[in-house]
Amino acid sequence: MSNNSPQRLNNIPVLFDELGLTELSDEQLQCIAEIDACLPQTQCGLCEHPEGCLPYAHSIVVKSDSYNKCVPGGQVVTDHIAKILDKPPLSVTPSKWAVNTNSQRPNEVRAVIKEDDCIGCTKCIPACPVDAIIGTSKHSHSVFTDLCTGCELCLAPCPVDCIELVPIERNLSDEKREQEQAHLRQRYHHHLNRVQAQMNDKRNNKPVVSMVQSKLNNATLEQVNIDEQQAKNTIATAKIRSKIKKLEKQLSVRDNEKKRQELASLKAQLAQAS
Ligand code: SF4
Ligand code: SF4
Ligand code: SF4
Repeated sequence: MSNNSPQRLNNIPVLFDELGLTELSDEQLQCIAEIDACLPQTQCGLCEHPEGCLPYAHSIVVKSDSYNKCVPGGQVVTDHIAKILDKPPLSVTPSKWAVNTNSQRPNEVRAVIKEDDCIGCTKCIPACPVDAIIGTSKHSHSVFTDLCTGCELCLAPCPVDCIELVPIERNLSDEKREQEQAHLRQRYHHHLNRVQAQMNDKRNNKPVVSMVQSKLNNATLEQVNIDEQQAKNTIATAKIRSKIKKLEKQLSVRDNEKKRQELASLKAQLAQAS
C-alpha cells in the first residue's frame, strides 16, 4: 500500500483513537496521509506533539496548526507540506543543530550508551519509540545504531547520563528516505501495539513509565483525558528533573554558588509543577 494512501490510516494503534480519524472526510484523510508520509518519523515530539508525527499531520489538517514545526525535517519538509496544502512557503522553526548543506535538514545524530557507566536500570528502554535499545536489568545496555533516529527521548530518563549523541553524515536519496520513514513508522506502531498488549496483560505489574505509555493506557481504557497542556507539562517536568540530576552530579564534583542557586530554583519549579 502506498505511503500516501489514506487506507494506510486504518487499523493503527489505539493511541491514535483520540484523533477521530473515522469522522474525517476523504479529502482530509488524504491530506493527513500525504503529510505524514513526508515527516521524518522520528517521533521526537519537537513539533509539540509528543505522540509523534501522525498527530502533528492531523493537527495541521484539522486544527490549522502551523506547518513549519518539524525540526528534524528542516526546511525541506516544511516546503513539502506547503506544497501539499498549496500554501505559501514558511521558514522552518530554527533548531540548535547546524543545517546540512546537502540535505537542507539539521545534522543527524545517533545515541550511544557508554557501556562502562551504564548501571542497567532499564529506564531508557520504554522511552525509545522504535525499540532500538537492548539490555536486561543490571546489565549494560546498547543501542542498535541502524535503528536509532536520534530523537533524544532516552536521554532524560537515564539516571547516570551515560547516553551520548554522536553526529552522523549521510546523504539519502528521496526514495531511500521514504523507505526508511515507512520502516520507522511501522516500528513505532509495533512498539505501541507491544506496549498496549503489555498493559492489557493482567500479569504485567510494570509501572507506567512514559508519557506516551500513560496516554496509551488511558486510550485503552477509553478514558483519554490528558490534554495538550498536560502533555507539555509532563515534558517540561521531565526536562527539569534531567537538569536537576545534571547539576547535582556537577555539584558533587565541585561546589559552585551559581549552580547551587540554579539547583534550588529548579527544585522549587519542580515542587510547584508536581
Ligand atoms: S519528526 Fe517532526 S513531525 Fe515527527 S514528532 Fe518530530 S518534530 Fe514532530
Ligand atoms: S535510542 Fe534513544 S535517541 Fe535513539 S531512537 Fe531510541 S530513544 Fe531515540
Ligand atoms: S537509562 Fe542509562 S543507566 Fe539505565 S539502562 Fe539505560 S543507559 Fe543504562
